[in-house]
Amino acid sequence: MNPPSLPAPKPRTEHLINELQSRGLRLVDPKAGVASRRGGAGPSDHKAITIDGVTVMVPVHTAPAFDSPYVAEAPDAGGHSRILRDGAPLGTISFPRRPRFYDLTTEDGVPYSKIAVLHGRDVLATTVLQSCIRYQSRTKTCQFCAIGQSLAAGRTIERKTPAQLAEVARAAVELDGVRHMVLTTGTPAGNDRGAAILAESAQAIKAAVDLPIQGQCEPPDDDAWFARMHDAGIDTLGMHLEAVTQSVRSRIMPGKASVPLARYFDAFAAAVPVFGRGQVSTYILAGLGDTPDAILAISERLIELGVYPFVVPFVPIAGTPLESHPAPTAEYMDSILGHLASMLLKADLLAADIKAGCGKCGACSALSTYERRLTA
Ligand code: SF4
Repeated sequence: MNPPSLPAPKPRTEHLINELQSRGLRLVDPKAGVASRRGGAGPSDHKAITIDGVTVMVPVHTAPAFDSPYVAEAPDAGGHSRILRDGAPLGTISFPRRPRFYDLTTEDGVPYSKIAVLHGRDVLATTVLQSCIRYQSRTKTCQFCAIGQSLAAGRTIERKTPAQLAEVARAAVELDGVRHMVLTTGTPAGNDRGAAILAESAQAIKAAVDLPIQGQCEPPDDDAWFARMHDAGIDTLGMHLEAVTQSVRSRIMPGKASVPLARYFDAFAAAVPVFGRGQVSTYILAGLGDTPDAILAISERLIELGVYPFVVPFVPIAGTPLESHPAPTAEYMDSILGHLASMLLKADLLAADIKAGCGKCGACSALSTYERRLTA
């Protein structure tokens, strides 16, 4: 007689998040929860799930996800679903519900969901300008980016006006309790690198609703834009390095790599006094060729400046030049995020203290769960 099978030991939440973000998740019911993000700026092909009270984005449409050992069963009537690894139950997850603002349409006939979308559990996110000078040519485009895909598929519009953004933001707060907002943008031609459209958008949103906002753009050529963005109502700023080693930058984002790391660091130093310590952040995609030591070394420099390094696992998005590039392993992410969380705790620069944006949301990485483990 075979001995009864023992339940699989419950992994720590941060390790399960690393595993799911690395290997992806198969869904018995693909319609469960909020529709998954496909294409768009930044990481994509994800679905929001909630594990142990933490909402994270987990790849569901990527090549690794199709072969993932992790499966979520169809949710019950309460929206809860068992998660299994190789058939053994690990615990229960839930799916944030579809936001009510998705049912609305602007007076000029644009569905609100084409103007901004729900990220994580309580973040309203939009790409104000859904085109980019760097996306026009294969030799310049950031190889991980899918900013043109959602536009080509008709899931969004190219330019969201300040009035449209204000209308949707107010509805998302009133109907769905959204708590902060991310305004990102493709990089337009011009020296402000998108700072001007972020500022005019934030001004209109803040006039309509009290909602903390993060703006995300490349470093503008003139540092005076930091005060202009802040005065317009942008509470926190993201200027995203994506990769940190020059050879990796040149390979992965040949256009954006023409802006040297030194310019980013000058811009960080100028932006922190305007927005405040911990209210400027940068997104670092781990798994594109940077070593853990390189990411931790640059994070140390960033933390010294008061910049929050939001390190997330790279997600190979279908249809991009990197769709077949492997996602980093959970062990690789653990080797970075454990140390990084300790460094952030020592510097008192924590996700929980960020007013708005990706670092505060945290759903694309296990980093804030590591931080919570250390502060519990
Ligand atoms: S971390 Fe940023 S990109 Fe990821 S879900 Fe949250 S707001 Fe969106």
